[in-house]
Amino acid sequence: MRPTVLCFSGLDPSGGAGLQADIEAIGQSGAHAAIACTALTIQNSQQVFGFEATSKELLLAQANAVVGDLPIKCVKSGMLGTTDNIAALAEFLREHPDYLYVLDPVLVANSGGSLGDQATLVKAFVELIPLATVITPNTVELRALTGLDDIEQATHKLFEMGANAVLVKGGHENTPDHIRNVLYADGKMLAESRCPRLEGQYHGSGCSLASFIAGRLALGDSLKIAVQHSETWLFGVLKQAEIPIPNGQKIPKRF
Ligand code: PLP
Repeated sequence: MRPTVLCFSGLDPSGGAGLQADIEAIGQSGAHAAIACTALTIQNSQQVFGFEATSKELLLAQANAVVGDLPIKCVKSGMLGTTDNIAALAEFLREHPDYLYVLDPVLVANSGGSLGDQATLVKAFVELIPLATVITPNTVELRALTGLDDIEQATHKLFEMGANAVLVKGGHENTPDHIRNVLYADGKMLAESRCPRLEGQYHGSGCSLASFIAGRLALGDSLKIAVQHSETWLFGVLKQAEIPIPNGQKIPKRF
């Protein structure tokens, strides 16, 4: 069977982000996706209306049901929703130190809607940071996690907090014609990429990128190659993204 990525992620009814993005991206990467659902969100392509988080017990029961059953090589987390769920994932990862782990530190949706209490989530993420093979913050999340405005300093702080590698995604920076991502490992820059900035807002771009990286890592790529593959793939699926309604965010076409 194909190597498996076990995703801890929430359901987004629009199918743009969350666990559907994970399943589609990981399928496209060549790996198999399994899901432990962290929350059911209520949202569409325009906004988040609310969510109900899974209990810690139910979350761990889902994950434990597939351990030893599927060939899990990597864990990927997206929306975790509550500090209880973050603690449960940390406990799960400590029990499985052989799993690679991609931490996408989701705090708010791209539409701006809340996916949990930001202040308490930020404090709880501290426990997950040293457990991750790679962390994939956008610059808004990077600043929130570290409390620092300067990107270089904030990245440095994440390494002081125990990070092993960080992919800083520049989509939220004021670079009108391009997006620059930088991959750091062990505190040093490992790679840099630039792509043209596509027009519009996208729903689930971060989930898709982190999941494709997790899939490629599960298949044996090095981190640098996994990130390169994923950025190329993401640019293609965003280029062909579909807009459901004039005010909505575009939904990546991952097939
Ligand atoms: N996970 C869920 C369940 C979501 O609803 C969202 C955004 O709406 C995200 C993750 C993060 O999405 P993005 O990839 O757009 O950052």
